[in-house]
Amino acid sequence: MPVICNIMEVINMHNKLFTPGPTEVRPELLKELSHPQIHHRTEEFVELYDFLQLYLKKLLFTENPVFIFSSSSTGAMEAAVTNGVKKRCLNLVNGAFGERWHEIAVMNGVPCDKFEIPWDKAIKAEMVEEQLASGKYDAVTLVSNDTSTGVLNPVKEIGEVIKKYDDVLFLVDAVSAMAGTEIRVDEWGIDMCLAGLQKAFALPAGLTVASVSERLLKRAEEVEKRSYYFNLPLMYKYHKKSQTPVTPPIPQMLALKKQLEYIIDKEGLEARFKRHQEMASCVQEWALKYFDIYPEKGYWSQTVTCIVNTRGISVSELNKQLVERYHCMIADGYGELKNKCFRIAHMGDMTLQDIKGLLAVINDILALE
Ligand SMILES: *Cc1c(COP(=O)(O)O)cnc(C)c1O
Repeated sequence: MPVICNIMEVINMHNKLFTPGPTEVRPELLKELSHPQIHHRTEEFVELYDFLQLYLKKLLFTENPVFIFSSSSTGAMEAAVTNGVKKRCLNLVNGAFGERWHEIAVMNGVPCDKFEIPWDKAIKAEMVEEQLASGKYDAVTLVSNDTSTGVLNPVKEIGEVIKKYDDVLFLVDAVSAMAGTEIRVDEWGIDMCLAGLQKAFALPAGLTVASVSERLLKRAEEVEKRSYYFNLPLMYKYHKKSQTPVTPPIPQMLALKKQLEYIIDKEGLEARFKRHQEMASCVQEWALKYFDIYPEKGYWSQTVTCIVNTRGISVSELNKQLVERYHCMIADGYGELKNKCFRIAHMGDMTLQDIKGLLAVINDILALE
């Protein structure tokens, strides 16, 4: 076996990821990770932190601070329910990650109820309205884009309903939507909007960002303390000094700076969202021609398509062929949907050309015409 010592050789021979996280990371961003470390209690770090604030606020259309979590997305979900619920939490579930919100609440001893609908359907504003009318809840959890099913829930409309209740917080997992789909945090009334970087940001895993509203910070002061690591008031105290309470993942922060410059100044938000829409349409058209699409119409994700395996192909065999012959990879159905569905991610820095190439290769493997 020859020893590979050139990083570019390694990058060139890897399997290209068309999976809904982690996603492909551009070599330019990988290089940022090997930047010499900067100390997190220095002026240089403060500048980096302030830059990230400015650009993350632009990305999310918000005036709220955006906290940096040294954890995957699930950690920030845990922070949301342990800091944001005093009375009782309503967990809206129509997929595996909605279910995860509920499990997190249960395991942390946070009072909660699950409202579950069939996973191929979107959660509608009327359903939330009906649940909130009970007056039992002071927080609602929702997954914007459930990566397990490819359903894009109507976050804006649900936000309109929640806004009618002064004391109800809106906690949104936007993991596979943020940086690929437009999210207007302030306009839609989102109190916490979180996402890990390994999905549509197209960066390595390990850092999660989350906007946090004043209402949520006030609530967090009032709830019984449950966690030291995921303590929003403590994070806010350091945020005001443009720092984090714990040593943050500095390499990822440097890569995030580079990527935010690219997303906002170079590509532009509008162009980025349009590119995602175009890639999604391309995969949807292909899926309808040869297979079927899992979610109900009108709520298809712009970042990942969950395709029904109507032809009864072996998804693992398809993936094996993709890896061995073409050095690329898609995702099987999630959990119970394994082999009943498969998923193609079209998020991050993928191009329409990449997607067309992938579909052509799948057609070749499956002998589809
Ligand atoms: C990937 C994903 C998660 C979990 O993210 P981790 O970074 O693995 O903790 C949560 N929610 C959604 C919608 C996801 O796509």
